[in-house]
Amino acid sequence: MIPGSFSYHRPASVADAVKLLSDLGEDARPLAGGHSLVPMMKLRLATPAHLVDLHGIAALKGIRRDGSNLVIGAMTTQHELLASGDVATTMPILHEAALLIADPQVRYRGTIGGNVANGDPGNDMPALMMTLGASYRLEGPGGTRDVAAADFYQGAYFTALEPGEILTSVSVPVPAAGHGYAYEKLKRKVGDYATAAAAVVLTMSGGKVATCSIGLTNVHETPLLAVDAAKAAIGTSLDAATLKKAAAAAEAIMAPAADARGPVEYRKHVGGIMVARALQRAAAVAK
Ligand code: FAD
Repeated sequence: MIPGSFSYHRPASVADAVKLLSDLGEDARPLAGGHSLVPMMKLRLATPAHLVDLHGIAALKGIRRDGSNLVIGAMTTQHELLASGDVATTMPILHEAALLIADPQVRYRGTIGGNVANGDPGNDMPALMMTLGASYRLEGPGGTRDVAAADFYQGAYFTALEPGEILTSVSVPVPAAGHGYAYEKLKRKVGDYATAAAAVVLTMSGGKVATCSIGLTNVHETPLLAVDAAKAAIGTSLDAATLKKAAAAAEAIMAPAADARGPVEYRKHVGGIMVARALQRAAAVAK
């Protein structure tokens, strides 16, 4: 299908983009890589009258170190994340998860900002950002504010973004040296969204889990932090009984939709398996 008609705007600064979005009101939407928005427009599930293209704003690009955080500009593409040596060495789970998004064509255009701002429970980056304790910088007519990824998602396609606001960067604390990590994603075929996925970041001490954070993708209308599952893992050597307990704790908070990826019980069951596998693999790579 062909999208409905719209006006195209290409601001050169964040301030201009915010002004345009504020002036044009609810009928205007930011355009990043377009790989979620344009398919929605083709299906007429989104019918914005104005697209405010963020590609002309140099300040939204790039990855830089800020103290103990990596700050990733909203218009940084998944491909650029994959090409970053800093990302690969300091937070390899981000590299691993980016590689599991769609295919090279989508990753060349799709941005981190679009991925996390979209509010699609199927997107991989939101649960990962919650697991890593990331925060999002938002700029709008009222100024600048930082919102924790864990507080950003309110429902499917509902986020903390206020009218006129854009997400300008994602700030991710660099995990401890020697941490273990894994992103386990079950999908029907290469390029598909997750049937269920789990992110684990942990540290080990004396053969036992010292710290642990677990995020879940596409098993609820929002990404989830599996707090009780992480608690079940901490202080253990991740024996079979603990893995079962952690998987069950994660399944208890899942409420996936029944869709072409499977019925509710199946998606919860495989979600639990993703948690157990991610815990095991993360522990195995921790130093
Ligand atoms: P856009 O499509 O341009 O925008 C998405 C939404 O976010 C829009 O509502 C837009 O207004 C808003 N937005 C964009 N940038 C900002 C900003 N800076 N501030 C505020 N609002 C903003 N994603 C996955 O995570 N996993 C997958 O497995 C996966 N598979 C895919 C398979 C296919 C075939 C396709 C086409 C896409 C797939 N995607 C997947 C989605 C892809 O990663 C998108 O690129 C991403 O979700 C959105 O990023 P974008 O830059 O394309 O944003």
